[in-house]
Amino acid sequence: MSKKTKSKADAYSFFSCIEKNFDKAARYLSIKKGLLEQIKSCNAVYRMHFPVKIGKEIQVIEAYRVQHSHHKLPCKGGIRYSIKVNQDEVMTLAALMTYKCAIVDVPFGGAKGGIKIDPQIISTENIEKITRRYTSELIKKILIGPGIDVPAPDYGTGEREMSWIFDTFLSLSPGEVDALACVTGKPVSQGGVRGRKEATGLGVFYGIRELCKMKEEMLSVGLDVGLNGKKVIIQGLGNVGYHAATFFHEAGAIIVALAEREGAIYNKKGLNVSNVIIHLKKTGSILNFPESKNIEDTEKALELECDILIPAALENVIHKHNANRIKAKIIGEAANGPVTPEADDILGKKGVLIVPDIYLNAGGVTVSYFEWLKNLSHVRYGRMEKRFSENMNTELLQVIETSCRKKIPIEEKKMILRGPREIDLVRSGLEDTMINGFHKIRDLKKSLKIENMRTAAFVLAINKIIDSYEKLGIFP
Ligand code: NAD
Repeated sequence: MSKKTKSKADAYSFFSCIEKNFDKAARYLSIKKGLLEQIKSCNAVYRMHFPVKIGKEIQVIEAYRVQHSHHKLPCKGGIRYSIKVNQDEVMTLAALMTYKCAIVDVPFGGAKGGIKIDPQIISTENIEKITRRYTSELIKKILIGPGIDVPAPDYGTGEREMSWIFDTFLSLSPGEVDALACVTGKPVSQGGVRGRKEATGLGVFYGIRELCKMKEEMLSVGLDVGLNGKKVIIQGLGNVGYHAATFFHEAGAIIVALAEREGAIYNKKGLNVSNVIIHLKKTGSILNFPESKNIEDTEKALELECDILIPAALENVIHKHNANRIKAKIIGEAANGPVTPEADDILGKKGVLIVPDIYLNAGGVTVSYFEWLKNLSHVRYGRMEKRFSENMNTELLQVIETSCRKKIPIEEKKMILRGPREIDLVRSGLEDTMINGFHKIRDLKKSLKIENMRTAAFVLAINKIIDSYEKLGIFP
């Protein structure tokens, strides 16, 4: 991010942006003011400072855990490692988690954590020390546990950090039979679920694919139905962006540009995502990728000609100063809060379709929910039904072959016979969740004549949260 834009983005209270979106949605509902205030506010904010010995020096680390809503327990939300982490950001990300979980019917309250460090310049050994100390701080304050608060990966963290968190929790909670469920996004070898790593990017893909199937919406932005041949730009080639890019590429979309911290690369005929990753691993940068043009100012990549723009890095990257220059017809918010409210208004007037973060990047928490359930049930998905389904399918095929007096080709037979594996069940659960979520938002938008998908998504979330308050009998 250039210095100029950084100061513009820093001027924002990210939390107030979310409050604005919430208030817009509240206008469509007749709910008591006090109850709306309760839903909006963060239930608990915990800021900590702890010492860690780095080399010969003692460094004081600033970190947070925010539990936005206790209307459902446990709370759930990722942990971010970034030098830009601050209380406002963590509170906002926690609030987004509450709304996200409500939209995709995941029974958690929203939470988020953050540690103010730059993992790119800290050794692995020291990241481990910081992660373990942060976890013990959470344990000390009862801010982590399978039924209390369950962290997950976010910007700057991944499977590695989650397994350190689990290991620390386990060693300090002897005999806790459900300890595996204290954190999600773990490696499969340590109780993770197959399909979690790519879940957010795949969810982004499912959500945009569903939108591109809608004739009415595609007509409104002058695009053909379907993803094939659509020009896509992705900002951020981390966990979310990389997997989203791969799924779009595999579905026949043309990835015309990819943007990273150091710059962007462009090729109007399309970039091969896996070759870009090989190049990145070899050279340490996406720049100078063969047959592509370098764009030094990485933010300029957002303004290139394309059909679909996927910001998958950080918040506030599309703001009032560049919104008018955005040429995309669809923006898929893979990152949290990439579009400021001012930019949202400008883009809305231009007719750009924005698929909001609180729905679109919910794939991660959805599959985290599957992982949590797996850990609590202590059994791998598919273990009970795989062989049973295969036996049933074999019998069914035999009946079909006998009654039709025709042999089914062996390759087709193999496909039909196969019982569900864990990855199949996780992906089908995710696909179903993303498709259902999209249509719930779309139907609400139409029936209440709501101006855009973001407001409709907030209306859906608020309604769901009110429902659970009523079920609890707290606010009859
Ligand atoms: P990540 O750390 O794996 O990747 C982020 C990528 O963005 C990195 O490759 C980084 O180099 C790049 N980046 C940083 N600054 C950039 C800039 N100015 N321009 C271009 N690229 C830049 O993080 P992630 O887990 O992929 O998360 C990305 C976003 O998605 C965040 O907003 C996060 O909150 C959101 N999100 C993540 C998940 C998840 O499951 N990981 C779930 C929901 C939402």
